[in-house]
Amino acid sequence: MNNYTDEKELSILKLEMRGVSRRTFLKFCAATAVLLGLENSYGSVLAEAAAEAVKKKPIIWLQGQGCTGCSCSLLSSLNPGPAEILLDMVSMRFNTTVMNAAGYLSVDVLDKTVKEGNYLLVIEGSIPTADPRYCVVEGMPFEELVVKTAKNAAAVVAVGTCSAYGGIPKAGITGAKSVSEIITDKPVINIPGCPFKPDWLVGTLLYYLSFNEVPPLDNDKRPLAYFGNHNIHDTCPRVSYFEKGQFLMDWNDPATVNWCLFKVGCKGPVTFSDCNRNWWNDGVNYCIRAGSPCAGCVQPQFYENFAPLYAPLFDLAAKEEPKEATGSDGGRKEGFDGLSVAVGAGMTAALVGGYKALQALSKTGKGETKDG
Ligand code: SF4
Repeated sequence: MNNYTDEKELSILKLEMRGVSRRTFLKFCAATAVLLGLENSYGSVLAEAAAEAVKKKPIIWLQGQGCTGCSCSLLSSLNPGPAEILLDMVSMRFNTTVMNAAGYLSVDVLDKTVKEGNYLLVIEGSIPTADPRYCVVEGMPFEELVVKTAKNAAAVVAVGTCSAYGGIPKAGITGAKSVSEIITDKPVINIPGCPFKPDWLVGTLLYYLSFNEVPPLDNDKRPLAYFGNHNIHDTCPRVSYFEKGQFLMDWNDPATVNWCLFKVGCKGPVTFSDCNRNWWNDGVNYCIRAGSPCAGCVQPQFYENFAPLYAPLFDLAAKEEPKEATGSDGGRKEGFDGLSVAVGAGMTAALVGGYKALQALSKTGKGETKDG
């Protein structure tokens, strides 16, 4: 850390002024390195990259068809949280939620950054295609803005499930599409979640800035380090109840409050993320531990194919028409056809111990493509 240029020292100083000490910052980078599957010593590499990023990689953050929950998730992370690290260390040139500028001033900055090129483009929200009037940003249809802005981007990051796979808007009438359905000529990294967890984005950006390459991704273009290898069910604290066939049916019954949530809609068996290893809100808790079934919000099937949220997977599987999910690998059929077959064959025993059949439905987490 001693060989920082003045500019790098300045960015560290900015963090210190906000109450984030140099030690805390380095600790955060070391922890991020471990989560990314790197050696602990890579923490200083990430720190170096973050400090360097202030002058090297501007970020443009566009917001389309969504609820702003992803921005809220990032900005409300606790102190010293990933938001401070990200917002103080990188050069966020354009972000409709947090920037002060408006009108032609903001458009000028956007145009100038696009012209200079070599920036990271972060997109929140889905892209409506049924009618250009459904989402207009900076005076132009959002799809047009996305295409124009992606043109000179070094890489594109889709944050939140709306942006990554279509999410809740895809269940509606707007023809909502994911970023990778619109941008097909450059790397797209998906950081899904409804909303996404801030450390997923910060760690991914630090990796990209450190090694100048997209981190290893799963088949759904999600960083393997945070998603692909982590099945929620496999390490769930309630899994022993699942195996004994003890399922919570009534939240008001104190005797069963810690039992398995499968029958009240838990999608944990087909969901891949590190939520139960690295809890939300800077380690406070996560859905299942708080008594809520996993909604599977990081999966391409969310929301349409996982609704109603409190319906068990087996009930959804029994629907007559299996639906095709917004898989990002082009033509991959998702849905519940495999499970329907299992149910049809009378395999109700799969409820206890046979959840691998459920996991097979989600073919995520098995691929290890470098650039998706
Ligand atoms: Fe945990 Fe859900 Fe699996 Fe039950 S079904 S053990 S609550 S992940």
